[in-house]
Amino acid sequence: MKIGILGFQGGVYEHVGILKRIFSGEKYSGETIIVRRGGELSKVDGIILPGGESTTIGILMDKMGLTGELRDRIRGGLPVLGVCAGAVLMAKKVVDKVVGEKEQNTLSVMDIGVIRNYFGRQIDSFEVDLHIPVIGEKPFRGVFIRAPIFERLNNNVEILAQVGEASVAVLQNNMLAVAFHPELTNDYRLHLLFLEMIKK
Ligand code: GLN
Repeated sequence: MKIGILGFQGGVYEHVGILKRIFSGEKYSGETIIVRRGGELSKVDGIILPGGESTTIGILMDKMGLTGELRDRIRGGLPVLGVCAGAVLMAKKVVDKVVGEKEQNTLSVMDIGVIRNYFGRQIDSFEVDLHIPVIGEKPFRGVFIRAPIFERLNNNVEILAQVGEASVAVLQNNMLAVAFHPELTNDYRLHLLFLEMIKK
């Protein structure tokens, strides 16, 4: 399988690293493709929208003429893993905890609302053990950096993990969104969940 990683900004190569390690094992074979323009998108079987800064990624995505094509592919069923800023790009409704509503270019494909920067600024970053039953009983170390939280706009959005009352991992059909950074851990279980979504 060919996994695209939207390559404009943020934690791009951390995902490449994890996928390369997974693909060097027995169970999965595949390659990674950095996606920055339309032609590259047509080759992929799934795409990761990495964390970073969603306003910046949205601007670059627009400048490179990728927004429409990416939106259409995801609406057409392309499996997508959105991490933090990448999840913000997927949401149909975006507000910021401090400044409220702000214009920004997004894909607007997933029936979730996000509250950006919900837990505070960079200095308020934290780690916490998460309970994510779909990937097993063992806790998953969640790394939260200026992370958003999610609210469901539709009942077919499944909540996979919470911090207190706040949803931090959600699934809707071909779309998986996480508020924390699985690419900054050595735990591949969420990447494997994503690869299984592609296999199906
Ligand atoms: N706060 C950032 C945003 O809303 C996301 C931060 C991150 O991806 N770690 O774009």
